[in-house]
Amino acid sequence: MPVSVAIVGSGPAGFYTADALLKSDADVRIDIIERLPTPFGLIRDGVAPDHQTTKKISAKFGHTALRDEVRFYGNVKVGRDVGLAELRRIYDAVVLCVGAPLDRALHIPGEDKSGVYGSAAFVGWYNGHPDFRDLDPDLNTSAVAVVGVGNVAIDVARVLVKTKAEMAASDLPEYADRVIRASPLTDVHVLGRRGPVEAKFTNVELREMGRLEDCVPVVDPAQLPDGVGDLPDRDLRLKEKNLATLREFAGRGSEDKAKRVHFQFYAAPVEILGGDRVEGLRLERTRIDGGRAVGSGEFFTIECGVVIAAIGYRAGPIEGAPFDADRHIVSNADGRIDEGLYAAGWIMRGPTGVISSNRADGVTVAERIRADFPQGIKPGREAFDTLLGERAVRHVSYAEWQKIDAAEVGNATPPAPRRKFVTIKEMLAVLDDTAARRSVG
Ligand code: NAP
Repeated sequence: MPVSVAIVGSGPAGFYTADALLKSDADVRIDIIERLPTPFGLIRDGVAPDHQTTKKISAKFGHTALRDEVRFYGNVKVGRDVGLAELRRIYDAVVLCVGAPLDRALHIPGEDKSGVYGSAAFVGWYNGHPDFRDLDPDLNTSAVAVVGVGNVAIDVARVLVKTKAEMAASDLPEYADRVIRASPLTDVHVLGRRGPVEAKFTNVELREMGRLEDCVPVVDPAQLPDGVGDLPDRDLRLKEKNLATLREFAGRGSEDKAKRVHFQFYAAPVEILGGDRVEGLRLERTRIDGGRAVGSGEFFTIECGVVIAAIGYRAGPIEGAPFDADRHIVSNADGRIDEGLYAAGWIMRGPTGVISSNRADGVTVAERIRADFPQGIKPGREAFDTLLGERAVRHVSYAEWQKIDAAEVGNATPPAPRRKFVTIKEMLAVLDDTAARRSVG
């Protein structure tokens, strides 16, 4: 009997795990269960809408989904339509690949004011994620503060300042495009609590900020150290490149461009100012001591109408799985949580690394499953189909996702690659329309 595996979550961790299981030559049947009707997780909803090349990996995942051994169950939410304990009874192995979808809090006064957004919500909004389609951020402000100097902070800043022409080949939803175009925004402040060497962004992403049509990067040369100091070889090159790029930015003038992205370091947020709405951000100057930011007692304020905290994500507890509340991940040992229960990706190790970093997680988990289950003993798919049928769960197959996909592509105005459906209702309506046309025809 084949080993039956349920993978919960269809983002990179889920698909790399499926891929690794298929490559392991094990006799497996893999069901990928996804709460949205659409697959690919962060590829669709996290990677910036103007970074279409990065999204191309979904074509490879599509090949995996179409393998005979694999089935996709979209629009099925674990915890609502089916319990984790039920999945564990049905499948030999269950792998949690649900990512770290929640925002981390800044834990500073004023965080509850209108105009403060976490990057999970804000990125979800400009990517047309159904959970955040109605975020409706008020961008009627000339200045936005983005807290954090990671790649998400850069994504957010870039999407806010790019011109309509620069976003033409993106899949930015129309509602987000309208709000961004109507905004009088001129200045984005990207704020690091530590220095340029400690910043987490990668160099390709940083350099892109120097090539924007109507926006210049602004850097204070006094904040740039002479060198990067003693670092392990793997970090040294990246940090040197970042420093060189920031030096180049520091030497530039306004170039008659309408917008500016200010990179400010040694600036830790301490309070969000204003009445009900954000009017500014109070920060404390820091210095680095042993790699940590230490407050200097000197404070300053940036006037801004919006604060976006791009300070990393976190996972939430999952019913039926032990949770490490300090690290915001499921408690696991190299991907193994309990007998027949595993995890891969951000829910297993936290929100770090790039998309391909999930590949190694998939390989590790696949090896463990292979070692733990030389052969299958549980029914898997058959029992799952029965359960979904009994509960009348409207699940979306991969072939149905392909119809949604084709409709999105067909609705786009080139060079936009697709016009995303942004509610689950719209997505399912495409399928119902197709079914209705078929029955009429
Ligand atoms: P990240 O890389 O961990 O960056 C988080 C930033 O927030 C850091 O600068 C961190 O500073 C800062 N921060 C955390 N808590 C803070 C606080 N309380 N106050 C002020 N600053 C705070 O996280 P991310 O940008 O969300 O990215 C997540 C992962 O996705 C990363 O691995 C990233 O590379 C990846 N990603 C990649 C791409 C791409 O390749 N194009 C695009 C997007 C995301 P400290 O360092 O001082 O903690």
